Amino acid sequence: VAVLHNIGLLACCRAEGGQGDIHAIPDAAIAWRGTDVVWVGPSSELPRDDRDDERIDAEGRLVVPGLIDCHTHLAFAGWRADEFEERIRGRSYLEIATAGGGIVRTVAATRAAATEALVARCAGWLSEMMRLGVTTVEAKSGYGLDVENELRLLDVYETLRQTQSVRIVSTLLAAHVIPAEYAGRRAEYVRMICDDLIPRVAARRAARFCDVFVEASAFTADEARTILHAARMHGLGAKLHADQFTDGGGAALAAEAGAVSADHLECASADGISRLARAGTVAVTLPIAAVYTGRPAAPARTLIEAGVPVAVATDFNPGTAPTFHLPLAMLLASTLQRMTPAEVLKAVTIHAAQAIGEASATGSLEPGKRADFAIIDAPDVNHWIYHFTPNACVSTYIGGRRVH
Ligand SMILES: [Zn+2]
Repeated sequence: VAVLHNIGLLACCRAEGGQGDIHAIPDAAIAWRGTDVVWVGPSSELPRDDRDDERIDAEGRLVVPGLIDCHTHLAFAGWRADEFEERIRGRSYLEIATAGGGIVRTVAATRAAATEALVARCAGWLSEMMRLGVTTVEAKSGYGLDVENELRLLDVYETLRQTQSVRIVSTLLAAHVIPAEYAGRRAEYVRMICDDLIPRVAARRAARFCDVFVEASAFTADEARTILHAARMHGLGAKLHADQFTDGGGAALAAEAGAVSADHLECASADGISRLARAGTVAVTLPIAAVYTGRPAAPARTLIEAGVPVAVATDFNPGTAPTFHLPLAMLLASTLQRMTPAEVLKAVTIHAAQAIGEASATGSLEPGKRADFAIIDAPDVNHWIYHFTPNACVSTYIGGRRVH
């Protein structure tokens, strides 16, 4: 048994209660055996156990569950810093995409990149994320857009899963945009995803979820319905990029499809939001993308008041969110989405775990779950988010093992 004691404040972040209910325990301790938590509580109640306990002093700091980045587009080649400047000068995301920039451009670069180069880049980013306190990352394909390259990106994630400490949950996002070679043949592309790609991904167990970008420049709600149905027939869970630039009925579709999460939601309708609440779908909000696109952030207060569990993630990608800094997304969720620091913490722990189907294993600190946690150099959650520093995380533990 290993024990972390002298924790100034332990935020357990169990699922029960509201968005801001983080189940904080002052002057706390946590004990784990092997990879799993066996006890959490006030230091004064810590059971006296074996002498060979490993005892670690948290020095009065804040301890939180390992952070979960539940929405990233991790594997891609190249960057698009020139488009960043164009958008600052007033060109819109959709104009750039229509002119051959945007996702299509990253697809060309990614197809041309060597697999080992993609793995090395992702590994470097994952270790940076781990230093920020991140212990689980959802990673989407979506820059391959053909059978060979989509499978190759999912293989990159499988390699990373075997070589990196950070846990990775993979999502197939072949329905990101229509690739150039299918211009004018969108029905054929959708059929290829449903009849060829999804069965192969399922047979290899290469992804847990299937995601669709529902947007004017990408896929219609009807196409998404077809793709998610094929995914479900093959045992893949549903996720959705919904209502980012326009209200395309994405939130309602996510609820109808039984999706674990509806992501973005900047333009979601009131009707869509109440359907999410009834379906128990997690709303994944992505405030970094709102900042980079210069658009209003997701209506987090409306979501919370409607009873939708809200998560926060980076959306790390080379176009609209070229940073993997989850604590930055947390700050922006507080300031732009008007979420309290406690609500934001729950959004990157247990709600993020629910958004990727991992809530039974991680996302909160309680007996039976994995000992994934971060030691934060702050006295409490408010102070951590308020006094934003490049990195307040002093140590990260994954499965009881110190990895930073
Ligand atoms: Zn995204």
